Amino acid sequence: MSNEKQITKTEVVIVGAGPAGLGCAALLKQMGIEDQELIVLERGEVGESFLRWPKDMRLITPSFPSNGYHQTDLNAITPDTSPAFNAGKEHLSGEEYAKYLSMVVNHYKIQVTTHTELETVISRGPGKGFELVAGDFTIHCKFLIWAGGEFQSPNTTGFTGADLCTHNSMVKEWKTLEKGRYVVIGGYESGVDAAFNLVNNGNEVTLLDLNGEEQDTFDPSRVLSPYTAERLSNMSNAEGVEYDDNFEVSNVFKQGDGYVVQSTDGKEVFSQYPPINCTGFDIDLGPVTDFFVYQDNGYPWVSPFDESTKIRNVFLAGPRLYHDPTLLCFIYKFRGRFAAPCAVIAGELELDTSIFKHYQQAGMLLQELDCCKEQECFC
Ligand SMILES: Cc1cc2nc3c(=O)[nH]c(=O)nc-3n(C[C@H](O)[C@H](O)[C@H](O)COP(=O)(O)OP(=O)(O)OC[C@H]3O[C@@H](n4cnc5c(N)ncnc54)[C@H](O)[C@@H]3O)c2cc1C
Repeated sequence: MSNEKQITKTEVVIVGAGPAGLGCAALLKQMGIEDQELIVLERGEVGESFLRWPKDMRLITPSFPSNGYHQTDLNAITPDTSPAFNAGKEHLSGEEYAKYLSMVVNHYKIQVTTHTELETVISRGPGKGFELVAGDFTIHCKFLIWAGGEFQSPNTTGFTGADLCTHNSMVKEWKTLEKGRYVVIGGYESGVDAAFNLVNNGNEVTLLDLNGEEQDTFDPSRVLSPYTAERLSNMSNAEGVEYDDNFEVSNVFKQGDGYVVQSTDGKEVFSQYPPINCTGFDIDLGPVTDFFVYQDNGYPWVSPFDESTKIRNVFLAGPRLYHDPTLLCFIYKFRGRFAAPCAVIAGELELDTSIFKHYQQAGMLLQELDCCKEQECFC
């Protein structure tokens, strides 16, 4: 039996079969990339993060099948697909959205190697590509797109004692939690979602947030979405709901059978159960962490083609893209950047870029990177 390692050679490897990775893959397929030139690696199933969402969680961005009128469904990852069309719903669950992603995989015939985690990446030298190790596989490729997402890297270090809390991404189903009063830390989209579902399942909730003032921004993903604002407003009339929007958590510690949550200015709230931590996710680029240089706010620096400023031919796709002042944290935003790495790859592999015009007409080609700065809504 030979001990020789089997090496697969390809041109492009995309890590992550979520909306970012599959959006780039679907575009490359439409540009004519050959099957053997593209591998998508996924540690779980297609749409793994969405499959891990708490059962009651919904996309807050509404879906609507308006693509035919050049107004692409806000959650679509290609101009010619629509999650609303498939699911017949405006606010899809994680499972429904993962099903949509699987349909995209089938439709564009994208090869996804599932249950395969990328562990190590070695640069083989300038212009010589990369060696990737994923379980038993070794892959040599020229281009690498990191689309590993954020959901699987919960922020559990934001305050002292965060490890005593239950991060909301770890809850499988809100109805399975014991009934009682819960403290929810973080009053943004996830915090309101947690509070709403806890109340709906017969619990009482204290919702703690540090930023009660309306922010001076027109960026719809930096203030509460209308969906969440409406839920918060409905919930505020419910019995057993307390909301402190001026509570910056500094510390959580155990006391007797419960937990004390302390604020930076000395306020205290007692919680019978582990507080629910809804403070978001870390910036974690896994095995390509050292392939990027980082901005003061922790986001990786990228070129105008979303390429690492440190190592050529390594690209970033998805919610960790930050082109100051624009944070591309939602699907309808970062999908506008699928064409950025694909344009560089197209130049080298001589792919057909004529599809970009279709993406542009569909609002899926974002070149103005300070788009939210001047956008004012008058009413
Ligand atoms: C509660 C909640 C509600 C949201 N609602 C909306 C919304 O309404 N609208 C919106 O636009 N956005 C919404 N978002 C944000 C949106 O879900 C994310 O921005 C989006 O899922 C990111 O897509 P992605 O493909 O980058 O990441 P993911 O969907 O997380 O995909 C990354 C994939 O990479 C895989 N992976 C990671 N590391 C490795 C590795 N080393 N090897 C192999 N595979 C790996 C993971 O298994 C995963 O499948 C919401 C997020 C949350 C948490």
